[in-house]
Amino acid sequence: MHAHIAIIGGGLVGASLALALQEGARARGWKILLVEPFAPGEGYQPSYDARSSALSYGTQQIYQRLGVWQSISPRAEPIRQIHVSDRGRFGATRLSAMEEGVPALGYVVENAWLGQCLWQALDRQVVEWRCPAEVVGLQPLQGGYRLTLDDDLQVDCDLAVLADGGRSSLREQIGIEVQRSPYAQTALIANVSPSESHRGQAFERFTDEGPMALLPLSDGRCALVWTRPGDDAQRLADLPDAAFLAELQASFGYRLGAFRQVGARHLYPLVLVEAQEQVRPHLAVLGNAAHSLHPIAGQGYNLSLRDALALAQALLGSDAPPGDFATLQAYLAGQRADQRLTVGFSDQVTRLFSSDAPLLATGRNLGLLGLDLLPPAKRWFARQAMGLGTRPL
Ligand SMILES: Cc1cc2nc3c(=O)[nH]c(=O)nc-3n(C[C@H](O)[C@H](O)[C@H](O)COP(=O)(O)OP(=O)(O)OC[C@H]3O[C@@H](n4cnc5c(N)ncnc54)[C@H](O)[C@@H]3O)c2cc1C
Repeated sequence: MHAHIAIIGGGLVGASLALALQEGARARGWKILLVEPFAPGEGYQPSYDARSSALSYGTQQIYQRLGVWQSISPRAEPIRQIHVSDRGRFGATRLSAMEEGVPALGYVVENAWLGQCLWQALDRQVVEWRCPAEVVGLQPLQGGYRLTLDDDLQVDCDLAVLADGGRSSLREQIGIEVQRSPYAQTALIANVSPSESHRGQAFERFTDEGPMALLPLSDGRCALVWTRPGDDAQRLADLPDAAFLAELQASFGYRLGAFRQVGARHLYPLVLVEAQEQVRPHLAVLGNAAHSLHPIAGQGYNLSLRDALALAQALLGSDAPPGDFATLQAYLAGQRADQRLTVGFSDQVTRLFSSDAPLLATGRNLGLLGLDLLPPAKRWFARQAMGLGTRPL
């Protein structure tokens, strides 16, 4: 079997790339293959335990352009206001969408819902799915790559895109090295229900024990991201629900009333993983397989979507066949500044969290939600973090 472009991994990034490519691919007669072991397009069910992502305003604009925002939006909870506070050090700050002149500072969407919307927007005439299926072998050929699937099917392609996530075994199989920088912190993620309505407010709270973010979710829930030293995060994860909620309440306070329910708790040790190569002739590495940031800064997916869009534009804007190395290099050169800034920003934010030094309050606080949805704030913080300047917001 032959495909012009084979996308390995149909997570949020692989599916978004397929979507960004499909119109141009149709016009060029390119065949795209998407291989994914799990079927995200089937039977979304709202779940209390569902994991979600904060999408930046820029991400919303991209999905709008790709024609899929309309289907995402019914379950996208707008962030109308961000309330930042630093216990024992600074007062509270509020940022509002209205003051920033945008309809929302960002949106919080369940990953399962987003995945389903993306898959449903794919045109199967152009994007052929192999799902459930797994790529078990990846081998360079003269002029392309050969994929071997778990049912022994072999697919030759001009361009293979590795979008198989942070634990990509195929990346290792073809000898792409990664750099890992651990942070000695663990993020605890869970959905919680407060007794009062969140009214579109996101909260970032700094406490002596670690920072936390509480994001507004649909159905009155809030998505909690709480960073703690590893042992303590494990202790919190193991607590009975009532004891966990009591600790959360003590740390967060009563701005949303009493916390009543908590869903499954997930732990993410914070580590920055970066692939040392993102392009080779006939190969591109995308998403978490290329750079996996910690969730606390909420930047990972937003960055990867910008990469995916840029890659699609580079491929469709070139007269060369999809695996052309110069095109892939041009794509990466174009995205490098954004990647460096975003990875550097997220890295700085996490390191600031791990230190008790009194810091640039505004920058640190804004950093928690990773708001490239607040370009002036991000620019300001990035300049601070890079030691470039002190221009106020
Ligand atoms: C707790 C948490 C919260 C986060 N919150 C945010 C946020 O608020 N905002 C934000 O911007 N980012 C956030 N991120 C980051 C975001 O989740 C990632 O950037 C995003 O999931 C990366 O998507 P991906 O498609 O690259 O990888 P994945 O989501 O890991 O998808 C990879 C896909 O590849 C498939 N696959 C794996 N191996 C193979 C194979 N051999 N063959 C075929 N398919 C394969 C997998 O089944 C999977 O579907 C968060 C991350 C975490 C962990």
